[in-house]
Amino acid sequence: MCHAAGLRVQPYNLEWLAFAAGRFSTYRACLGTKLSCIGDWIVSDIRNVILVTYDCARADVVWDFQNTTFSELASHGCQFRRAISSSPMTPVSHATIFTGLQPYNHGLRRLFREPLPETVPTLAEALSEQGFFTAALVSCPGLMKWYGHCRGFQHYDDWLPPLPDGSDPLSVPDVKLRGLALKRANQVSERAIDLIPGLKDKDRWFMFLHFFDAHWPYEPPETSDRQANPYEGELLFADKHLGRIVQCLKDHDAFDDTLIVILGDHGEDLAGWYPNDKSGAENLHPEEEGHGCCLYQQTQHVPLMFSHASIAERSIETQVGLIDVAPTIAGMLGADFRGQPDGVDLSGTIRTGAEPPERVLYAETMHPREIQENTGKFPEIVNSQCIWLDPQRKIMRWIGKSPEYVMFDLSADPLETNPLPAPDDLIARYTWPEERVGPA
Ligand SMILES: [Zn+2]
Repeated sequence: MCHAAGLRVQPYNLEWLAFAAGRFSTYRACLGTKLSCIGDWIVSDIRNVILVTYDCARADVVWDFQNTTFSELASHGCQFRRAISSSPMTPVSHATIFTGLQPYNHGLRRLFREPLPETVPTLAEALSEQGFFTAALVSCPGLMKWYGHCRGFQHYDDWLPPLPDGSDPLSVPDVKLRGLALKRANQVSERAIDLIPGLKDKDRWFMFLHFFDAHWPYEPPETSDRQANPYEGELLFADKHLGRIVQCLKDHDAFDDTLIVILGDHGEDLAGWYPNDKSGAENLHPEEEGHGCCLYQQTQHVPLMFSHASIAERSIETQVGLIDVAPTIAGMLGADFRGQPDGVDLSGTIRTGAEPPERVLYAETMHPREIQENTGKFPEIVNSQCIWLDPQRKIMRWIGKSPEYVMFDLSADPLETNPLPAPDDLIARYTWPEERVGPA
C-alpha cells in the first residue's frame, strides 16, 4: 500500500472537516434504520447502484445534451458541474474511481506497466463483502482483468471482439492500435439486459457499465441529428443504449430503488472540433492524441451526476473530484468503505444541495514518458501535474521543463491559451507528489 501522508496535496481545510464530520455522524445515525430520517436527510429507497462511465466524455459537451438518457436522468439528478478527473488515462482514472485515491496513493499510474496493488481497498470489494452482488461490463483493453479493477466483482465481463484485421487486441504491441478494440454500447446493453432479470434474486447489487464508444476512432454506427461531429455521435450512441438499460430496469421494477451514477473517466481533445482543443500535428501539442499527455480542461473537466427518484434536480458549482465517487456511493448506499480515501462522501450534498467547502484538486499524467520510451518520438515532451486551487485558478507543472510551473486563470482565459507565471508562494504551498511509480 502506498499511502504516504507526506505526498498528499493539501486536500482539506478545517471548514471541510467540520462539514464532513457532521454529515458522517448524521449518516451513522441513519444506518440500520433505513426508513428513519434525522434533520435534513430525506427518506430514501436506494438499494442498488449502477455506475456508468462514458469514456472520453467532455463536461462541456455532455452537459449540453438535450432529450437524451443523460438529460432525462438529470431531471432527478445532483449534477456536479465542476468535477475533475485525476488522470487522462482510462486505467489510472478508473483506479481512482474505484478506490477514492489519487494515482500516487493507489499506485496505478501508467498504461500496461503496473496493475492496481492488491492491498488497495476497492469499492466493489467493500460492497461484495457487505452482501452486494457485483457485476461489471467493460469495453476496452484499459480495463482488462490484468489491471486488477476486477477485484471484488463477482461477474467481470472484459470480453473484446477481435480487431478489424482479426487479431487479438491484447497481442498488439502498439498501444494506440489496441484502442481500436471495442465492445460496442449495443453489446454492453445486450449483456446488461441479460443480467437484469436475475437481479431480482439478489438482496442488493452494484453494477459497473463502461461505454468506450467515444474513444478514437470516431465512427459512430448511427448518425444523430443532435450531433455536431462524429465524437458526439459516439456519445449519443452510448447514451441511447444506456436508455435501453434504464427501460429494462423499469420493466423489471428495479429502477425506483437504483441509484444511477454517470461520469466521464476523462475528457477528449478533438484537435479543433472545439475551440479549446490543442492536440494534433498542426496545434500546440502534436503528441496528444485525444487524451493522455496533457491536463487541460477538455480532458480533465468531466461530467459527474448522481440520479435517483428521491434526488431533487440540482447543480453543484463547488469543484469535486472523481476521488469522491467511491466514498459517495458508499454513503448513498449506507455501506462502509474501508481504507482512507483521498476523496470525501458527498451524499449530504446530494440530498440537501448544500455546497461543500472548496478543496484543492489534483491530476497527473505519466504518459508522455511512456510514449517516448515506446516510440522514440517527441523527445521534448514531459510528464505533468496540475493543481486546481479553485474553479478559477489552476497551476500546471511541466516536470523538468522551463518554466516548470505556469498558472491559468480560467475565468479570464477559459480556453487556456495564456499561461501566466505561477507565484512562488503558491507553488511552495503544496506538496507536489513524486513521479515515482509502484508502492512506496
Ligand atoms: Zn478512458
